[in-house]
Amino acid sequence: MAFQSPDQSRLPTAATVIGDSQPQGGGAKYAHIYPATGEVTSEFHLSDASDVAKAVAAAQAAFPEWRAMTGDKRRNLMFKLAALIEERAEEMTPLLSYENGSILLAGPHMSADAAQKFRYFGGWADKIEGRAIDTWGGPAHDYVRYEPYGVVGAIVPWNGPLFAATMIMAPALAAGNCVVLKAPENAPYSLMKLVEIIRDAGFPPGVVNLVTGGPDVGEAMVGHPGIGKIEFIGSGGTARKILAKASETLKPIGLELGGKSAVLVFADADLQAAAKRGLAGAVSANGQGCVNGTRLLVERSVYEPYLQMLQAMAGYVKVGDPLAQDTVMGPVISDTALDRIQSMVEGGKSDGARVVVGGERLDGEHKDGFFLPITVLADVSPESHIAKNEVFGPVLVVTPFDSEEEAVALANDSDYGLGAYIHTTNLARGHRVANRMMAGQVQVNGSGEAMTPCVPFGGMKHSGHGRLGGIEGLREFQQVRNVWINLQD
Ligand code: NAD
Repeated sequence: MAFQSPDQSRLPTAATVIGDSQPQGGGAKYAHIYPATGEVTSEFHLSDASDVAKAVAAAQAAFPEWRAMTGDKRRNLMFKLAALIEERAEEMTPLLSYENGSILLAGPHMSADAAQKFRYFGGWADKIEGRAIDTWGGPAHDYVRYEPYGVVGAIVPWNGPLFAATMIMAPALAAGNCVVLKAPENAPYSLMKLVEIIRDAGFPPGVVNLVTGGPDVGEAMVGHPGIGKIEFIGSGGTARKILAKASETLKPIGLELGGKSAVLVFADADLQAAAKRGLAGAVSANGQGCVNGTRLLVERSVYEPYLQMLQAMAGYVKVGDPLAQDTVMGPVISDTALDRIQSMVEGGKSDGARVVVGGERLDGEHKDGFFLPITVLADVSPESHIAKNEVFGPVLVVTPFDSEEEAVALANDSDYGLGAYIHTTNLARGHRVANRMMAGQVQVNGSGEAMTPCVPFGGMKHSGHGRLGGIEGLREFQQVRNVWINLQD
């Protein structure tokens, strides 16, 4: 085997954590596959619906104490957790690669980001305030309190489990909720480690519980009446099933879904910077990032030079062993995903697209893993299947435009509305176009830098609703109680 193998002695083993116990899950035995080599990293028992029920009971039991804990104490625990995550980043880093083929280089940033989230939202834990209203009915005293839901269920995808889970857990815990977290079975290790670190930080047992599994476990969470709110990060198809299931219990569902984010490159842009950032849409998270800019719209006068830059730069991106320090892009998650991506690329070609670079599965030393190189398709019709749908692989589609008006129309002509990236040196145009984007995350001359815990993150249209990050992220996990007190005798 050409690539390094995961070191099995570093893998955490507890896939189900309920209160302070780590029972063997009641589900089937599962063999996790390392996407870079196709080998099994470890086998463990999945959780099942009865584990979900026990996890919810543990969270409900822990809730009164957690809710009653004063904000300063919750803050201190979250700060302690942040410090411990940083201290144990070396334990976490390889797991992020083993679980889904992420590059080793990204690992330390992922731990730093998780720590930042607990610090940012820990800072809110001691600042939860209500407000008083001069109500019309009176004389009366009227006030508003922001209350936790009780138990929050977090369902996250395999492409960035640590990133996604901490986006939910940090604000949910700060607001005084307990959590039942579902790790995806095909990328479970970083969350198993996170829950271990949470325990070591001194969180009371039951405040965070872990179940690991697939759709059946998620469905059991959505259907459980003891969970007050579900926050879901994943695909639109699954979101539809979750919403249908949630109609039984009427519980609120937060949705962070997929995207087909537009990148608008105007002729006045710094073209090299725009090409480098454009390429990030294929490279980031091995092309499997929800908010990656994957639909490139380029002003016709710079269209061919821009494509040439993409092609040249793609040649410098080392695709290969995620555990090698100089690797910039790793594999996609599975053989099935690779087949799906390749068939979308073939469909694009049949619809008239020109292959600028990539397109074929990598062979040779890559052959046991699930590798596709950066793939750039030019002259893509905005109406074609590949222009309209999320590929979730290292594939960029490029289409020319002739005017600002046309660029805005093309960018907004999508069911999705997660990200939009505008490249221009014209400040007025930057603002003007940003304010016309039907997307939750708009960046001018950027490519992902803005995803810090202090800003609201989320989508419009089919990319979901609700926001994680910022004060909006805290509000996602609070419900409002209004209290009216009669001041008349
Ligand atoms: P997915 O929808 O297949 O699965 C997401 C999670 O839902 C998994 O944990 C899965 O086990 C669970 N699940 C599946 N069926 C379920 C059901 N019926 N009930 C309850 N839970 C169920 O998505 P995926 O393939 O894991 O992830 C890729 C998708 O996630 C892409 O569309 C990507 O854009 C999106 N995503 C969005 C964000 C965001 O913040 N907007 C972040 C990361 C990924």
